[in-house]
Amino acid sequence: MRDAARIPGSVVAFNEPKNIKSTLLFMSDENNTFDILTQLVRTGHETEWPAGRPTSTPIYAAATYTYESMDEMDKVFAGELPGYVYTRHGNPTVTILEDALRVVEGGATARAYGSGMAALHAALFACDLSPGASVLASQDLYGATTNLLLNIFGVFAIKSVFTDFSDLSKVRAKAGEIKPRVLIAETISNPLLKVCDINACAEIAHQAGARLIIDNTFASPYLCQPLKHGADIVVHSATKFLGGHADATGGIAISRDEFDATALTGVMKLVGGILSPWEAHTILRGMKTLGVRMDRHCENAKALATHLQADSRIGRVYFPGLAREDERMKTARMLREEQFGALVSIELKDNTREAAFRFMDALKLCVRSTSLGDVFTSALHPATASHRDLSPARRRDLGISEGLIRISVGIENLKDIIADIDQALAALSETRPLATGLRA
Ligand code: PLP
Repeated sequence: MRDAARIPGSVVAFNEPKNIKSTLLFMSDENNTFDILTQLVRTGHETEWPAGRPTSTPIYAAATYTYESMDEMDKVFAGELPGYVYTRHGNPTVTILEDALRVVEGGATARAYGSGMAALHAALFACDLSPGASVLASQDLYGATTNLLLNIFGVFAIKSVFTDFSDLSKVRAKAGEIKPRVLIAETISNPLLKVCDINACAEIAHQAGARLIIDNTFASPYLCQPLKHGADIVVHSATKFLGGHADATGGIAISRDEFDATALTGVMKLVGGILSPWEAHTILRGMKTLGVRMDRHCENAKALATHLQADSRIGRVYFPGLAREDERMKTARMLREEQFGALVSIELKDNTREAAFRFMDALKLCVRSTSLGDVFTSALHPATASHRDLSPARRRDLGISEGLIRISVGIENLKDIIADIDQALAALSETRPLATGLRA
């Protein structure tokens, strides 16, 4: 027989908690007279909370929850007792993420969804958008948000009017004219990176009897907390900086008003675009490093923008830190001190799709991908990606040219990022054929 004392320490020292048992779930037959088919189906469940508190959030992969009695379950369903009944109505891992974001954004209520678009839909729905109501939207919204307003809410006779939110006199005039129920803008717009004066927009919205929704995806709560500047609902695509590693898709809406819990939860339960507990866990893990990642993202972005500003192959660099003095002062009021975000957009001097594709194809380190906010540097061509569904004329009106490229600056070594972008710019003057379908 093997001598237990000779087996290295922790193996024998571990005293398994008695309340973790591979019991058969809900089994009333103590003698276990069940057939193996039944045992297989019902085995492997813990019946009580284990001893010791886990230091990382557990993934509650349960879709349903049971209770000792129907009376208890009935009370949970009725909201008289706290608890979960069905994951489309709520899940512990998702609740922990919701609460974490509610706290960092300083809100009264938060609900998570399966994507940023689902969260935007819920936030708009929470603003009482009935037929005949109108929305005053920033003309610089993410393309899909514009299409959500036009193609989904528009079908229900909700009218959206778009204006330049960087011109407050236009916002004020339109709000007075159309009496909107909602104003909606992004903290840092996509892809021209205009910073919204949230305080001023909130004031205009409230004077008009409307509410202000701010999509805070590009800033993240580390750089800006829009509720503190007067916004009513904040939305994030958690797919971006919050997750940060291109491995989770999710969205969240956070409201300053507890009252919104009913509508935000209603959309979650009835439309059903819920966040999976697996994604909630991944996003929670991402949030732990958000601060250090953002510091590095912003530092690299600032240095890259400054470097590119001097490049003769670039017509214009869009970066809030290089804007006019008054714009920079506004940015300083909205964002964390000396931080200007992690995105840099460039317009090539050869302002054509062909040049943009040639530049993108030449990138070796930076990833061509349809997202932002990941730890790696990525580049996107707005005219064929984020704003693809807008008409060419509309893109032209918005200043989204064919030679515009949006760079989400990662946390790699700055020298490597700059070297890759420099060599891709150098490739613009090469005569080798394009790698893409643009060839004649
Ligand atoms: N808001 C902004 C500013 C975005 O850039 C995106 C996506 O790129 C979304 C919302 C939508 O997020 P998701 O892709 O998670 O639905």
